[in-house]
Amino acid sequence: MHEMSYCEGVLEAVLRRASGRPVARVGVRIGAVHRVQLAAAGGPAEGATTDLVVVPVQGHCMDCRADFSSADPAPACPSCGSLEVAAYGGDEVVLEWLQYVDTAGSAASADRQAEVVPPHTHLAAAHQGGV
Ligand SMILES: [Zn+2]
Repeated sequence: MHEMSYCEGVLEAVLRRASGRPVARVGVRIGAVHRVQLAAAGGPAEGATTDLVVVPVQGHCMDCRADFSSADPAPACPSCGSLEVAAYGGDEVVLEWLQYVDTAGSAASADRQAEVVPPHTHLAAAHQGGV
Protein backbone atom coordinates (compact mmCIF):
# COMPACT_ATOMS: atom_id res chain seq x y z
CA MET A 1 0.00 0.00 0.00
CA HIS A 2 1.02 3.59 -0.55
CA GLU A 3 0.83 4.40 3.15
CA MET A 4 3.07 1.48 4.03
CA SER A 5 5.72 2.77 1.64
CA TYR A 6 6.13 5.87 3.80
CA CYS A 7 6.20 3.64 6.82
CA GLU A 8 9.07 1.65 5.32
CA GLY A 9 10.85 4.87 4.40
CA VAL A 10 10.68 6.10 7.98
CA LEU A 11 11.90 2.79 9.32
CA GLU A 12 14.78 2.75 6.86
CA ALA A 13 15.83 6.24 7.95
CA VAL A 14 15.65 5.25 11.62
CA LEU A 15 17.80 2.17 11.13
CA ARG A 16 20.35 4.03 9.02
CA ARG A 17 20.79 6.79 11.57
CA ALA A 18 20.78 4.49 14.58
CA SER A 19 23.67 2.47 13.10
CA GLY A 20 22.94 -0.45 15.40
CA ARG A 21 22.19 1.59 18.52
CA PRO A 22 18.97 0.53 20.23
CA VAL A 23 16.26 3.13 19.68
CA ALA A 24 13.94 4.05 22.55
CA ARG A 25 11.70 6.67 20.92
CA VAL A 26 11.15 8.04 17.46
CA GLY A 27 9.54 11.37 16.61
CA VAL A 28 7.78 11.48 13.27
CA ARG A 29 5.82 14.34 11.71
CA ILE A 30 3.51 13.06 9.04
CA GLY A 31 0.86 14.68 6.88
CA ALA A 32 -2.78 13.76 7.40
CA VAL A 33 -2.73 12.38 3.86
CA HIS A 34 -0.33 9.65 4.94
CA ARG A 35 -1.44 9.06 8.48
CA VAL A 36 0.12 5.76 9.47
CA GLN A 37 1.64 4.02 12.41
CA LEU A 38 5.31 3.25 12.29
CA ALA A 39 5.60 -0.51 12.27
CA ALA A 40 8.90 -1.52 13.74
CA ALA A 41 9.99 -4.73 12.04
CA GLY A 42 12.74 -5.88 14.34
CA GLY A 43 16.30 -4.66 14.72
CA PRO A 44 17.26 -1.57 16.69
CA ALA A 45 13.83 0.01 16.18
CA GLU A 46 12.02 -2.94 17.72
CA GLY A 47 10.11 -1.86 20.78
CA ALA A 48 10.69 1.82 20.08
CA THR A 49 7.89 4.20 20.95
CA THR A 50 6.73 6.41 18.11
CA ASP A 51 5.57 9.96 18.77
CA LEU A 52 3.44 10.74 15.76
CA VAL A 53 2.53 14.33 14.96
CA VAL A 54 -0.10 14.55 12.25
CA VAL A 55 0.12 17.63 10.07
CA PRO A 56 -3.36 18.77 8.97
CA VAL A 57 -4.38 19.43 5.40
CA GLN A 58 -4.93 23.12 4.62
CA GLY A 59 -8.19 23.82 2.82
CA HIS A 60 -9.57 26.80 0.95
CA CYS A 61 -13.25 26.87 0.07
CA MET A 62 -13.94 27.89 -3.54
CA ASP A 63 -17.50 28.91 -2.66
CA CYS A 64 -17.28 30.99 0.52
CA ARG A 65 -13.48 31.44 0.49
CA ALA A 66 -13.04 30.19 4.03
CA ASP A 67 -9.58 28.94 4.97
CA PHE A 68 -9.34 26.04 7.38
CA SER A 69 -7.28 23.01 8.35
CA SER A 70 -8.50 19.44 8.59
CA ALA A 71 -7.26 15.97 9.41
CA ASP A 72 -9.35 14.74 6.49
CA PRO A 73 -7.31 14.57 3.26
CA ALA A 74 -10.46 15.39 1.26
CA PRO A 75 -12.23 17.86 3.55
CA ALA A 76 -15.59 19.57 3.11
CA CYS A 77 -15.87 23.26 3.98
CA PRO A 78 -16.71 23.61 7.69
CA SER A 79 -18.42 26.96 7.04
CA CYS A 80 -20.80 26.19 4.17
CA GLY A 81 -20.40 22.45 3.64
CA SER A 82 -19.18 22.83 0.08
CA LEU A 83 -17.02 20.12 -1.44
CA GLU A 84 -15.45 22.64 -3.82
CA VAL A 85 -12.35 22.83 -1.65
CA ALA A 86 -8.74 23.22 -2.69
CA ALA A 87 -6.66 21.11 -0.31
CA TYR A 88 -2.92 21.42 -0.03
CA GLY A 89 -0.17 20.44 2.38
CA GLY A 90 -0.45 17.58 4.79
CA ASP A 91 1.65 15.33 2.63
CA GLU A 92 5.09 15.54 4.21
CA VAL A 93 6.85 12.81 6.14
CA VAL A 94 9.63 13.98 8.45
CA LEU A 95 11.73 11.96 10.85
CA GLU A 96 12.09 14.63 13.52
CA TRP A 97 14.20 13.01 16.20
CA LEU A 98 15.53 9.78 17.61
CA GLN A 99 16.16 8.90 21.22
CA TYR A 100 18.41 5.98 21.97
CA VAL A 101 18.19 3.52 24.81
CA ASP A 102 20.28 4.81 27.67
CA THR A 103 23.25 2.45 27.97
CA ALA A 104 26.24 2.62 30.34
CA GLY A 105 25.31 6.04 31.68
CA SER A 106 25.46 7.82 28.36
CA ALA A 107 22.78 10.38 29.02
CA ALA A 108 22.77 12.60 25.95
CA SER A 109 21.77 9.89 23.56
CA ALA A 110 19.38 11.76 21.34
CA ASP A 111 19.49 12.71 17.69
CA ARG A 112 17.44 15.82 17.05
CA GLN A 113 18.25 16.49 13.44
CA ALA A 114 15.03 16.47 11.45
CA GLU A 115 15.11 14.62 8.17
CA VAL A 116 12.56 14.64 5.41
CA VAL A 117 11.83 11.07 4.40
CA PRO A 118 11.84 10.68 0.63
CA PRO A 119 8.77 8.86 -0.66
CA HIS A 120 10.66 6.19 -2.58
CA THR A 121 13.25 4.90 -0.11
CA HIS A 122 10.89 2.03 0.68
CA LEU A 123 11.60 0.26 -2.60
CA ALA A 124 15.13 -0.81 -1.71
CA ALA A 125 14.09 -2.01 1.75
CA ALA A 126 11.11 -3.94 0.41
CA HIS A 127 13.18 -5.69 -2.24
CA GLN A 128 15.72 -6.80 0.33
CA GLY A 129 12.98 -8.73 2.03
CA GLY A 130 12.49 -6.29 4.88
CA VAL A 131 14.89 -4.97 7.45
ZN1 LIG B 1 -17.32 27.28 2.19
